[in-house]
Amino acid sequence: MPDRRCAACGKVSGKEEFIRIARTKDGAIRIDMTGKAPGRGAYLCRDSACIEKAVKKQSLNRSFHAAVPEEIYDGLGNLGI
Ligand SMILES: [Zn+2]
Repeated sequence: MPDRRCAACGKVSGKEEFIRIARTKDGAIRIDMTGKAPGRGAYLCRDSACIEKAVKKQSLNRSFHAAVPEEIYDGLGNLGI
């Protein structure tokens, strides 16, 4: 099982430790609560500090080499973590 890396703090761990954000082949990005959506994934710790940092720095844009829609960042902020 490959390790995953948090897009905010760089911590490496197993995927069960992280929230997954998925980008499908057609470029649609969504928060993947199941962890099983197809496409490329980015990961964030289930930690409010990492989520806040990712939102503030828009860290996922770098992970996906794409502009992540504002509603994804809003959604992360609204997960209640
Ligand atoms: Zn982190």
